[in-house]
Amino acid sequence: MATAKRDYYEVLGVAKTASQEELKKAYRRLAMQYHPDRNQGDTAAEEKFKEIGEAYSVLSDPEKRQRYDTYGHAGAEMPDFGSFSFDSAFDLFDMFFGGGRGRSRSGPQQGHDLRMDIDVSFDEVVTGATRTIEVPKAGTCESCAGSGCAPGTSPVTCTNCHGTGQVQRVVQSIFGQMATVTTCPSCRGEGKSIPNPCPTCRGQGRVDVKKTIEVTIPAGVDEDVTVRVPGEGEAGLKGGPAGDLYIGFRIAPHAFFTRRRQDVVYELPVSIAQAVLGDAITVPTVTGTHTVEVKPGTQHGSIIKISGMGIPHVRTGRRGDQICVVRIVIPTKITAKEREIFEQLGGRTGEPAPVKKGFFDHLKDAFRA
Ligand SMILES: [Zn+2]
Ligand SMILES: [Zn+2]
Repeated sequence: MATAKRDYYEVLGVAKTASQEELKKAYRRLAMQYHPDRNQGDTAAEEKFKEIGEAYSVLSDPEKRQRYDTYGHAGAEMPDFGSFSFDSAFDLFDMFFGGGRGRSRSGPQQGHDLRMDIDVSFDEVVTGATRTIEVPKAGTCESCAGSGCAPGTSPVTCTNCHGTGQVQRVVQSIFGQMATVTTCPSCRGEGKSIPNPCPTCRGQGRVDVKKTIEVTIPAGVDEDVTVRVPGEGEAGLKGGPAGDLYIGFRIAPHAFFTRRRQDVVYELPVSIAQAVLGDAITVPTVTGTHTVEVKPGTQHGSIIKISGMGIPHVRTGRRGDQICVVRIVIPTKITAKEREIFEQLGGRTGEPAPVKKGFFDHLKDAFRA
């Protein structure tokens, strides 16, 4: 959108503190005033009708409203807000007033947006990846290039509306009885009919296709991230543009890393001897290995941080840290010799025995075998 958007509160003419009830009243009044059925051919009114619908759709949703209050229009244009079209404005109006009044518009319509979730491994999150996926959707019929006509034929002017696509009728509406111009039912507003429909798409101009596309999985992606692929949604109608495709991600858990945003948590098994005496231990990282120093006297549950070895941030690329949480492993099966050593340590009497110099080296060797 090149033009600056007006403030949603201003559009509805309400205060920033307006209650849901006040928003409803404002929308009801303005939407009826500017409804295209009441303002035939007035494009300014049409724009206004859409603007009102968009403002109300955002402000009536507490979550969207909060985001709008915080970030302004930038917040409201985040992918999951979707795009707001004339269709949406009519849908909203129909929903609000109990709907089903029929629409008096025709012309190109944008195809629907699609959403697909893909499975991603932990490793792909770290490095980023590309993936070829198949998107089942309504695509343009190739036999007729979307025209809906059998090869070698073309549409003829609709006899019901003489090509205008619209017929006038009198209807009972919420505005009272009024003459209204509605879409020609014979040609559905196209002004033309297709005497020889394309056999492939039965005149629809669209067919179910499976489109193969390549998707970039950005490094650092998370399950709350959505990637938009423009124009890969459903094909438009009557020459309208295609919708967009939104890709979400399901991330498989890792065997021994747990993700906390950009950090990864790793449980580091340490033997009693290593904890008492200290040691250098090589641990796996998300991209390889790294040797960490376990200081003498390390306690169970203490933390050793490896800076910059976590997962990259999806936008900045800056990597988080690896958090190694020490788990002291108590042996459950011991040899006769080890038993002797533990007994010498004072296990039998419950009192610590005097420790001779060099003894711990012995113990260390025993556990490392
Ligand atoms: Zn017609
Ligand atoms: Zn076709």
